[in-house]
Amino acid sequence: MIDPDIFSAEDLVSNPEKFSSIEPAIRLGVIGDPVAHSRSPVFQNAALAASGIPARYTRLHVPPERFVDAVRALPRAGFLGANVTIPHKAAALAVVDEADDYARASGSVNTIVILGGKLHGFNTDGPGLVRAIREEFSVDVRDLRVVLLGAGGGAGRAIAVQCARERCERLVLVNRSLEKIEALKKDLAPFFQSEHVSGPVERLVAIPFEDEALRRELENADILINATSLGMSRLDPPVISPSLLTPNQLVYDTVYSGGMSRLIEDASAAGARCANGLGMLLHQGALSFEIWFNRPAPLEVMRRALLSTI
Ligand code: NAP
Repeated sequence: MIDPDIFSAEDLVSNPEKFSSIEPAIRLGVIGDPVAHSRSPVFQNAALAASGIPARYTRLHVPPERFVDAVRALPRAGFLGANVTIPHKAAALAVVDEADDYARASGSVNTIVILGGKLHGFNTDGPGLVRAIREEFSVDVRDLRVVLLGAGGGAGRAIAVQCARERCERLVLVNRSLEKIEALKKDLAPFFQSEHVSGPVERLVAIPFEDEALRRELENADILINATSLGMSRLDPPVISPSLLTPNQLVYDTVYSGGMSRLIEDASAAGARCANGLGMLLHQGALSFEIWFNRPAPLEVMRRALLSTI
């Protein structure tokens, strides 16, 4: 009996016909390591069913050393596309035949489309976050002064590039290893050259993860976004000291583990308006669907399916 919910790199490489032998045929999937926890199949399969598309979306458990072979096998296995998640997004940029401008600037690909046997790479994380923030807080990123924690990570870089392209009022890049964001700051500088109304502070700043520097920058910010991997486990230390959280802040935590993350708990206790990463997950997935099928995603169907996993 074939389990249509999880496959391996070996399945893709050595047994590509397997994916078409299942009813409905498997044509999409999320590639990761680990991947068993991924909620994408739940809402992507709901979207496929609601749209009357006879295809199924699965999980593909692929370790880093098998990533290139597995991705290169997708066309032979009849896939029309895939999502890519931890830890493969940067490797995906290197393996695709073409990548769009935003994916290249972000240094990572989370969505692959297969056309004529060629792999085309996109990244929907940043645009997904922008849609989630608009939905959660009724504001546009372009009107916000943003403090971004973990700007040197994969998701952090994609979010930083998106904020810059949206021409946000102000962007404070924060990372434990400062060297990772100094080059990013240089790359983004052209987006922050014009005058905006943001007070007596620079529009683009890179700082280390230190309370005093953070306190200063948060005084001149509207939203705090956590793009570090801290908070994925309940045993993680707090992302930032709760004393830095205030009632006038918006707090967006990209982490989306079922319950409240420590950051959301602390921010709620401080009176801040907060949201977790489920909205970003939903919208990045809806944008992937739109890229694969060139039609609007059934967002409410996807949302209901995603919320049913919590
Ligand atoms: P990543 O590339 O491994 O980056 C991890 C980031 O976290 C780096 O900036 C790293 O700083 C920082 N970090 C790790 N441990 C830290 C610590 N103890 N103190 C301070 N900073 C620390 O991971 P990623 O792929 O970008 O994922 C990051 C987060 O984004 C995850 O929580 C993931 O769930 C979330 N995410 C959510 C969505 C969504 O749809 N909601 C989509 C994508 C990602 P250094 O550079 O100094 O190591």
